[in-house]
Amino acid sequence: MATSAKVNASLKQPAHPVSTAVTDEDPSVEGEIDGLPRVHVHVPLDDSDLEDAAEADGELDEWEDTESLYGDVLQEMGDDQLFDGEPDACTLEEAVAFRQQLRAIGPMEFCRTTVEAGTISAKKLLTAFGLKPPPFLEGEDDDAYYPLLSLALSRELSKRIKLTQYNSVDDAVDLIKNAKNIIVLTGAGISTSLGIPDFRSKDKGLYAKLEYLGLSDPQEVFDINTFRDDPSIFYTIARDILPSTDRFTPTHAFIHLLQQKGKLLTNYSQNIDNIESIAGILPEKLIQCHGSFATASCVECKYQIPGETIFPDIKAGRIPKCPKCIASLKAQAGTSMKRKRSQNGQSKKRGRYDSGADDSTDDDLDTAKGGIMKPDITFFGEQLPDRFSDRLTNHDKHLVDLVIVIGTSLKVAPVSEVVPYLPAHIPQMYISKTPVSHVNFDIDMLGECDVVVAELCRRAGWDLNHEMIPEKQKLDIKLQDGFTSRHLFSTEE
Ligand SMILES: [Zn+2]
Repeated sequence: MATSAKVNASLKQPAHPVSTAVTDEDPSVEGEIDGLPRVHVHVPLDDSDLEDAAEADGELDEWEDTESLYGDVLQEMGDDQLFDGEPDACTLEEAVAFRQQLRAIGPMEFCRTTVEAGTISAKKLLTAFGLKPPPFLEGEDDDAYYPLLSLALSRELSKRIKLTQYNSVDDAVDLIKNAKNIIVLTGAGISTSLGIPDFRSKDKGLYAKLEYLGLSDPQEVFDINTFRDDPSIFYTIARDILPSTDRFTPTHAFIHLLQQKGKLLTNYSQNIDNIESIAGILPEKLIQCHGSFATASCVECKYQIPGETIFPDIKAGRIPKCPKCIASLKAQAGTSMKRKRSQNGQSKKRGRYDSGADDSTDDDLDTAKGGIMKPDITFFGEQLPDRFSDRLTNHDKHLVDLVIVIGTSLKVAPVSEVVPYLPAHIPQMYISKTPVSHVNFDIDMLGECDVVVAELCRRAGWDLNHEMIPEKQKLDIKLQDGFTSRHLFSTEE
């Protein structure tokens, strides 16, 4: 009891200074962070509490508070980094053993036999739970790591437990063949093989392209307030993210095949490219969590039109105007309207990144008064589509019998909230290039998702006809060292 009490008690002590890794945008973490005492810790006392804790409503929100509080200070370590041979980090085998031990004996006994018995330092034990000891604690007593360890243990216990009966690729195939109500969660990774940029990827995605525009935070482009202030910022890059294809990937075809076989419950997509629709996913089976270009609405009067109506404007780098607002402005202005032109001939409000489009008659109106059309993709600061939570909580949760996550790292809400929300006994599998460590999937299949789904279909005896699937592809599937259910897919060129 003593140490876990100590670990918990240490949460109430003054926090350690965090002067590094503080962002200027967030005043709440400036200077001395007195956030540590605010960390919510609800370590279950015995195993019977585990399920209750995992199902407790609102837990998710609390975790988000905790994690956003630490923000950039916390560095996650993927399981693969545990192999790096750092002297202060656990090996994967050690980590797996510690995690099992924690579940088996509960956090109090776990602390007693580890940090309190002096068999391992709290600093090193953190790494077994995927947390990197933060630089600001370097050189401190080991006690200083207790609050973080407490957080790490709670977080581990709140994770879904992997179902041990599902491990192999053939297990995945059997699950898919036997399932009747599959939730498929998709992200940018399922469209990249068409050359559509992953605009959330920091290194090479659209955000990197945006740096030349001088934006301090490229997310500004998708911020509704920025858009209201200066829509030209968004319309400077909109043509780059405009879906300009009638093609879809083998992965889209796979989801469509699940639908044809009557197995698709819902496809929750993070993508705004609307390619799911092109591939034939029915509107009633599709939730585009961040909206799409399929429709566009006026930011002022909410007048909605088919998205393709404004595609010519987007492609030309022009700011599309609302026909309804324009009409009523014209009616109001009548013939007596004074043209609002400034002396040098520029209209009054020009964007920072004006595309230089010629003024047309419509531009002569004071467009600052409104009437800008915006594609119905969900911007930061805008509400998510209502259908998302309605469908998830009132429909899917009770029906789902398999979860397949494809091409997303599950870091962005709301898709990131779907998996922890679903009943823990429902099998979950993961298909993507890079593994994630914050969710325990039953089966991980890492590689190009087009390649993985093609192989799953081949083994299921299903025809996944798609021109992007080579007729005879040489495939290499390896079980990653130290794992029982993580498979690495690669093709031989
Ligand atoms: Zn309007």
